[in-house]
Amino acid sequence: MSNKLFTFHKIVAGCEEGSREAWEAFLADYTPIVFQLSDVYFGFSPQKQNDFWRDALVQLSTSNFETLKRFEHQAEREFLTDLRDFLLEQGAEKLDPALDSTETPRPTPEAVLGLLKGLPLLDQEVLFFKLCGYSDATIEKILVTTPAVAQKWLERLRAEYSPLLAGSDDRCVWPAAWAVVLRTARKAKTEGCPPLRHFVRIHEGGFQWHEKEPAEEHVTGCLHCLSRWTALREIWHWRKQAKPRPADEIDALLSALPLRTETKARKTLFKRMFG
Ligand SMILES: [Zn+2]
Repeated sequence: MSNKLFTFHKIVAGCEEGSREAWEAFLADYTPIVFQLSDVYFGFSPQKQNDFWRDALVQLSTSNFETLKRFEHQAEREFLTDLRDFLLEQGAEKLDPALDSTETPRPTPEAVLGLLKGLPLLDQEVLFFKLCGYSDATIEKILVTTPAVAQKWLERLRAEYSPLLAGSDDRCVWPAAWAVVLRTARKAKTEGCPPLRHFVRIHEGGFQWHEKEPAEEHVTGCLHCLSRWTALREIWHWRKQAKPRPADEIDALLSALPLRTETKARKTLFKRMFG
């Protein structure tokens, strides 16, 4: 783990200097996650996914990597959560509400809060992932427990959202409406919301009992925090599942970035950092 964190910090530091090697490593690690998210949340075709990521990389790197530098750098999970938020914001602009499914009522933040109200945390997590568009099989892997152990969520969905129960693909059925729910959740931060780091510690098992219970109780009553709590689990699942992308795809993405011309001395320095 410490090795991985070490590598993550070096990679991001190198990216902010425009190093080609660092960006190669960044794109190799994170492109599979970005494609996975854009598949689930936007339903983009492979070509559109590629164009979307390329545009996002341009955004991340303008003004001397200003946006990238704003992301949390403390730990990889927090960094990836910021990257995910950024991507969901970017993608939301490209969604057409006319393409949303009309099989069920379109979700609104109020409707989602109503569905979640009073449920235990595990049920809320399952239900939230279901609304995101995840299949039972993927939810089982993300939560490392079968959704069947949490049953109350099922009754809530059955009334109006039964088409979601049968889905075997990981694909949101109303990307535009769900993007509004997620954006509302992102903006609903209150003074009582624990820092993301607190959730990371709980997920990694490095918490004190007196920290865990109040935090979990807060999450069950706060859409902003449930959204971040589940995002942390989701992003880490896809991080672990990531499969390498073809080298020519990574090369094409690199061409979108303002990379530094590598001098021999700088190259050596970077190799020392990695070595
Ligand atoms: Zn909160």
